[in-house]
Amino acid sequence: MLNERDIGEIVKQVVAKLNMTEESGTGMGIFDDMNKAIAAAKKAQEVLRVMTMDQREKIISRIRTKIIENAETLARMAVEETGMGNVGHKILKNRLVAEKTPGTEDITTVAWSGDRGLTLIEMGPFGVIGAITPCTNPSETVLCNSIGMIAGGNTVVFNPHPAAIKTSNFAVRLVNEASVEAGGPENIACSLLKPTLESSKIMMSHKDIPLIAATGGPGVVTAVLSSGKRGIGAGAGNPPALVDETADIRKAAEDIVNGCTFDNNLPCIAEKEIVAVDSIADELMNYMLTEQGCYLADKELQDKLTATVLTPKGLNRKCVGRSAKALLAMVGVEVSDDIRCIVFEGEKEHPLIREELMMPILGMVRAKDFDDAVEKAVWLEHGNRHSAHIHSKNVDNITKYAKAIDTAILVKNGPSYSAIGFGGEGFCTFTIASRTGEGLTSASTFTKRRRCVMCDSLCIR
Ligand code: NAD
Repeated sequence: MLNERDIGEIVKQVVAKLNMTEESGTGMGIFDDMNKAIAAAKKAQEVLRVMTMDQREKIISRIRTKIIENAETLARMAVEETGMGNVGHKILKNRLVAEKTPGTEDITTVAWSGDRGLTLIEMGPFGVIGAITPCTNPSETVLCNSIGMIAGGNTVVFNPHPAAIKTSNFAVRLVNEASVEAGGPENIACSLLKPTLESSKIMMSHKDIPLIAATGGPGVVTAVLSSGKRGIGAGAGNPPALVDETADIRKAAEDIVNGCTFDNNLPCIAEKEIVAVDSIADELMNYMLTEQGCYLADKELQDKLTATVLTPKGLNRKCVGRSAKALLAMVGVEVSDDIRCIVFEGEKEHPLIREELMMPILGMVRAKDFDDAVEKAVWLEHGNRHSAHIHSKNVDNITKYAKAIDTAILVKNGPSYSAIGFGGEGFCTFTIASRTGEGLTSASTFTKRRRCVMCDSLCIR
């Protein structure tokens, strides 16, 4: 357990690092101009592309160490700067990036050999990749993208979310420190002191940027896909969690609330609403209220919450990523720290249900039977094809849902975060290319396929 002195010491260290980031200005990958950043990343890529795979892996290994060493600083910095999320959960997310983001082992070769020789498909770098990153997982996305893109032999220029620039640029500095310490080039990852829409436009039209990876809401993905460049579009979701009558209802309540409240619901994959079949809906709600720290919002409270968290222009940014306790305080309700989620029952058209809120408000829609539940869940996912979840022991039901909802991620009988390797099998990513179909991105996503053909030789079978 930390005592007050320990906490004071940590706060001092974080403030010192924040100041360092502000004061140190440009250098270590940070530029005041997008054209300069791209030119520096291009020079670094010329060095990286002639390094061996083993040297690339050494750089990645050093990045992983730096992330682990700085996980707490990154987490505190992000919460302090953006006002969003939960420090403990952000520490876990940063560690997950360090431990489970694939490195060069993801770059593989396909070979055919036979009478007419030997043909290989090799994965080569694009060059300098442009990356646009969100404020919801700022350091996680910068670090995860950096590992994958560098493993693929690329360097990267970020145009991060301005509301998370200190945290994002701190992460960029860590990547460059790691590269230099491991014998790699500086500017292997670059960013701007003050990113703007203008600087992202320069990136999107620059001749030396062949590929852009956009992680964020619908606006940025559409902008990138309209740029004329190849784009990887990791867009918005609104993941429904469907619960049928065959599920372990008590466990479903626990998994859903755990997933929904992780980092105050900031992850794009997190449960954003429930669709429950009528026969188990009351039982599910009861478990959430009695065992999972949920607070039931009546009609009056739902109206107050709607007026507070949604504005005519969309989400009230001051509410995104805030805890249930903080959200309730905004509408005049004081609760204890045990309350971690706000729940209620409503129709699918309820604004707090149909909108992607990114806060621990979880509406439950009642369905008359499984087919009705699937129809409602598909409607709520809005065709994003991003993520969905189901709690069921009926494989026919699971299969039917999987085909109907057609998402990049479908978690069965677990919390949403098991989809990114946290309590589930598989690797980690913070860029889920839902719109463009690459799905969970990794180093191989950031490579070009090349066919390399040797005619009539080198087949020794
Ligand atoms: P956001 O869309 O406000 O911003 C994301 C990034 O895009 C920022 O860097 C922002 O400056 C930039 N941007 C926004 N509009 C732009 C435009 N027209 N042209 C160029 N750049 C533009 O999103 P956010 O609030 O930072 O993040 C939350 C959203 O991102 C949610 O919708 C969430 O679902 C989504 N998201 C998706 C993934 C995924 O992997 N699919 C991961 C994280 C977040």
